[in-house]
Amino acid sequence: MYELAKVTLENEMDLVLAHKRSMKLAEIAGLTLSAQTTFATAVSEIARNTIDNGKNGCLTLGISDEKRRSIVACITDDNLRDLKNKDGLDYAKRLVDKLNVFTQDNDNTIELYQYVPQGNKIDIQVLDQWRINFRNEPPISPYDEIKRKSEQLKELTEKLRDSEDHYRMLTDTLPLMMFSINETGGLTYVNKWMTDYFGLSLEDFNASLTEDLIYEEDRPDAEELAAMTNSKTAIKAEWRLRNASGNYLWHMVSINPIITDNKASAWFGFLVDINAQKLFEQTLKDNQELKKAQQLLQYNITELNRSNEELQQFAFVASHDLQEPLRKVTFYSDYLQMQEALLVDDKSIRFLHGIRQASDRMRGLITDLLGFSQVNKRKMDLKHLSLNHVMQDAVSDFELIIKEKNATVEIRNLPELQGDETMLRRLFENLLSNSLKYVREDVAPVITINAKQEGDVVKIEFTDNGIGFDEQYLSKIFTLFQRLHDKQQFSGSGLGLAICRKIVEMHNGSITATSKVNVGSCFLVRLPVKQE
Ligand code: ADP
Repeated sequence: MYELAKVTLENEMDLVLAHKRSMKLAEIAGLTLSAQTTFATAVSEIARNTIDNGKNGCLTLGISDEKRRSIVACITDDNLRDLKNKDGLDYAKRLVDKLNVFTQDNDNTIELYQYVPQGNKIDIQVLDQWRINFRNEPPISPYDEIKRKSEQLKELTEKLRDSEDHYRMLTDTLPLMMFSINETGGLTYVNKWMTDYFGLSLEDFNASLTEDLIYEEDRPDAEELAAMTNSKTAIKAEWRLRNASGNYLWHMVSINPIITDNKASAWFGFLVDINAQKLFEQTLKDNQELKKAQQLLQYNITELNRSNEELQQFAFVASHDLQEPLRKVTFYSDYLQMQEALLVDDKSIRFLHGIRQASDRMRGLITDLLGFSQVNKRKMDLKHLSLNHVMQDAVSDFELIIKEKNATVEIRNLPELQGDETMLRRLFENLLSNSLKYVREDVAPVITINAKQEGDVVKIEFTDNGIGFDEQYLSKIFTLFQRLHDKQQFSGSGLGLAICRKIVEMHNGSITATSKVNVGSCFLVRLPVKQE
């Protein structure tokens, strides 16, 4: 049916409307006045029964579908009562050209047909015109007016609901989180993506369960928040937001105000996941920084190697070449001393003695410097070693001094490890030599060498009861030419411990010490059992 007008059938006034609309349809279809009345009477007869006995009755007026050659009144109701009104139905049937009754479950449909004159097909444009006529027809009564308005309202509400459903569906389909906020800051809408992401319902969002949803560093403080809410322009930000599993992911945030009366009355916002992009950016940045750091490191290493090499060469050449003139100084001063006749006075003899002492000290220095530069130059000869043997060898070199100083050297059970024998012997010699050198007057030196293995590391302790040193200078004593004690009292070059550190580091180990002035010192050497 081509529908033109509708009347809900609820009360007597609807019956009047049904009658009038049927008359009108018959009139505009060009039926005679008596035909109009007949059609309207038949419709009223059925409509009355629906109003009296039916449920949710409705009259639809229009033109028949297939041939568009008759006007139709279709009455539906949810209650199968009409058939009881047999007389009324028969009466209506006699009045119209055709009457159909369809029943299905409890639904009941009665169609009344009246042919239009000349049996012409009604043009579709004419039908549209008729529909407009019906729409714009002034209300028949105040009741009609109210009814029409309420129907329009109903129609509008349905449209609105449809559009809302449509909009909701749209926001749920788009892969973004959407929300709206009212004037007081409460959330009025969140789409499904948002509830799924946060694992929170709209009620949860509004029940202050939301405190740490924004990562602390990104969270706007009270001042920024106030500025945002007073702003009439859109807010754009990048925040890390906590998902249902507790992980914070980067999102682009856009909150747009809805302006009414020149102020923001509500906000509409969306959140887009930009985590992958952010991570990519960060990795790129880190990579660039890493590359820069690597380049700088490489440059520094090359520079360091170069100056190291230069220094080593210098130390080697200096110590090697200085030996010759030194030998000459020693030779001539010895010669002069032997030729006593040539010496004029005591003063000259004292000077000569001074020259001899200075050149001896210099020889010591040169030997140590040469030793240091050779430690660097040497290729390591790694072997499985018994530290007991290496230590005993080192001690044997000091037998005379040990006796002379009435010293006791106790070696307690040293383990085995992999290392360069010559280097380790040098290490032990230097430590022993210091322990026998920095001794207290009138106190017989007692040196204990103890070791224990902890996992893959051997810890060796050299303890003495010597003069000790102030621990605040600990870092100094392992550097080149650094001495803590007076050279008149204790001879030395300040290279012994620097050589020790070099040897230990070449073995991937470490050396440190603890000490107390006038009590003694303890040097702790850590060496790995195996060299990589
Ligand atoms: P040096 O040739 O002067 O002995 P080292 O490098 O061997 O040079 O030692 C550096 C300084 O560390 C020494 O001058 C000394 O002051 C201090 N030192 C080293 N060993 C001991 C020790 N066993 N007791 C006290 N002081 C020590």
